[in-house]
Amino acid sequence: ETNVGTNNDCVFKVGDVFKSFNEFKYKLNDYSTNIGGISHRIGKQANNQRKSQSQKSDFPPFIVKFKEDQQELTDRKLIDELITVWKNQHNKDINITGRFGDKQWLLIFANEPQTFEDLLNAQSWPDKLNNSEILIKQPRQLPSTYSLVIQQFHKNWKEKEVLEELKLQYLSLKNLTRMFTKDETSMNIVRADFSSLREVQDLLAIGSISISHLKHKVKQYYAPIRIQKCMKCFSHAHPTNNSQQSHQMCIRCGQQHAFNNECKNEIKCINCHGEHYAGHSSCPKVQKIRKEISEKYKTNRAELMVGFEQQQQEHN
Ligand SMILES: [Zn+2]
Ligand SMILES: [Zn+2]
Ligand SMILES: [Zn+2]
Repeated sequence: ETNVGTNNDCVFKVGDVFKSFNEFKYKLNDYSTNIGGISHRIGKQANNQRKSQSQKSDFPPFIVKFKEDQQELTDRKLIDELITVWKNQHNKDINITGRFGDKQWLLIFANEPQTFEDLLNAQSWPDKLNNSEILIKQPRQLPSTYSLVIQQFHKNWKEKEVLEELKLQYLSLKNLTRMFTKDETSMNIVRADFSSLREVQDLLAIGSISISHLKHKVKQYYAPIRIQKCMKCFSHAHPTNNSQQSHQMCIRCGQQHAFNNECKNEIKCINCHGEHYAGHSSCPKVQKIRKEISEKYKTNRAELMVGFEQQQQEHN
């Protein structure tokens, strides 16, 4: 059994050298950034925010940019207008919420899969809202429920060629991406991204996909789990800007000193006092959080699937 993606952990290894503090920060940022549609928060903060978290959409937002300023209208009014226009043009109800984000861009969240997939169709959007021309930025990454992994995908095969072949049969297939191990060896597994949850579900139910008349096993795809870490004190319980620690701690020795590549102190994790860098995948604290997140992740996924089933039945 291959658990693709779930073991992709800490970007730091013992002995890592960074050319500059910026490179260090860049890697650290990359490491603690959430990807995909479901965002995870663990620790004290998660408890305070449980309520708002649970109301958060499982889908990444569509961003609406306006050509003209929208200062006189509330986000609520714009959302209502979009729902009405959509209904008039497509005779379809969309289930969305939205709010203004950065730079007065309107963020629109789908509340269920069918709406999300309707919004993915760029041609369906109106050209204008509140008499202003609009530009739509589609989400760059779909929730991981829209992907699956294809096994026994020969290392010599070209993903692009197979993609063209498969697209003829699987209309919502968008992309094939080969998976790599942590040390960047290519695997005989590809991730297949779709724009229809139904198509993914059907393939998972069958359990295989045909490539050149040969059956290949398909499995659920789980996005790599990213674990939040404070860049100042390396706690996993809060983001950097909430740190109580005003001095920089060391990722290697856990002591207080300025960032220093040359630290030769004994390796000691600040969180568990073990013999590894803070945030390393072997840290029991990291493993505990990983387990909690993956449990939560499975629950979310199950809820999403149940919601989808119910909705399909309502349509039939
Ligand atoms: Zn901190
Ligand atoms: Zn140190
Ligand atoms: Zn540790």
